[in-house]
Amino acid sequence: MGASRRQEAAKLILGADSPAIAEGRVSSVQTISGTGANHLGALFLSRFYHFNGEKKAHISDPTWINHFAIFRNVGIEAVTYPYYDPQTIGLAFHPLLDTLDTLPDRSAILLHACAHNPTGVDPTREQWGQICDVFLKKGHYAFFDCAYQGFASGDLDNDAWAVREFVRRNVPLLVCQSFAKNAGLYGERVGALHVVAPSKEAADRVKSQLSVLARSEISNPPAHGARIVSLILNNLDLFEEWKRDIKTMAGRIIQMRDELHKLLTEELKTPGNWDHIVNQIGMFSFTGISPEKSQALTEKAHIYLTQNGRISMAGLNSHNIRYFAENLDKVVR
Ligand code: PLP
Repeated sequence: MGASRRQEAAKLILGADSPAIAEGRVSSVQTISGTGANHLGALFLSRFYHFNGEKKAHISDPTWINHFAIFRNVGIEAVTYPYYDPQTIGLAFHPLLDTLDTLPDRSAILLHACAHNPTGVDPTREQWGQICDVFLKKGHYAFFDCAYQGFASGDLDNDAWAVREFVRRNVPLLVCQSFAKNAGLYGERVGALHVVAPSKEAADRVKSQLSVLARSEISNPPAHGARIVSLILNNLDLFEEWKRDIKTMAGRIIQMRDELHKLLTEELKTPGNWDHIVNQIGMFSFTGISPEKSQALTEKAHIYLTQNGRISMAGLNSHNIRYFAENLDKVVR
């Protein structure tokens, strides 16, 4: 991505009217998709962040499993903070808030911008606001991982809300951006790392260091997928079409959630509460079933899900949803 392309990508996540961009406070580099953005962000912190004590990054329990290795590779220990409450199959909000409050000042904390992987559980706007309060009080650094912009609600701006709110309130942060899912460019490995600095001078210094790091590791990022993204972002008709496509994809997943919920609660009267299916967001859903039951689904019905009970909502469609619901019903009974 050239400079203007990188800025278009920054606008997509930070907002077209972002004062941080207008003030030249955002340093952006193209990365090897979201994974590369996480790596470069972690490497950047490992080299330049003034850790308060030990080099630790705080990540949600659970999280995308690769986060552990990504931080370990750059000499940062990844430790977890409470996030998911198996009792409610929802957010462990107070334990999360209390933990952030008791961490050393200026801790580096990874947050999923939207559509949390693997739980599908996101904070509400009000909860984000309270999380932001703690970041400001403690001077924490926010390491936003945004792999699913648009996939949560079907709306790119809506899904970027938390990131933009943290930028608006001047929390020091970086954002890892992926185009793998929302632009269907998984194999092209298109992503970006955006570091929001307190001033243009600081951003220029950050940019220079990021360029050195990226050059030593990948020399230059792949061009083809980035050109496709750039084409979409710079052509109003294509951009509008892409937004409609995202809405269709996210809408289909939301519809599958509704149908699955209806089948379980109204038709099959499956024991237990299944409201989390509709309350969760994005392409994954934590069903709340045990590893044994997950295994039984795989062995008895050839339904493949992770041992922790996570299903890919995108894998459900009008042809297989009843089969899934009926087998889920069987294993939990
Ligand atoms: N971050 C999270 C939370 C993810 O779920 C994923 C993909 O599974 C990634 C980052 C990596 O995305 P990419 O395929 O763009 O490297």
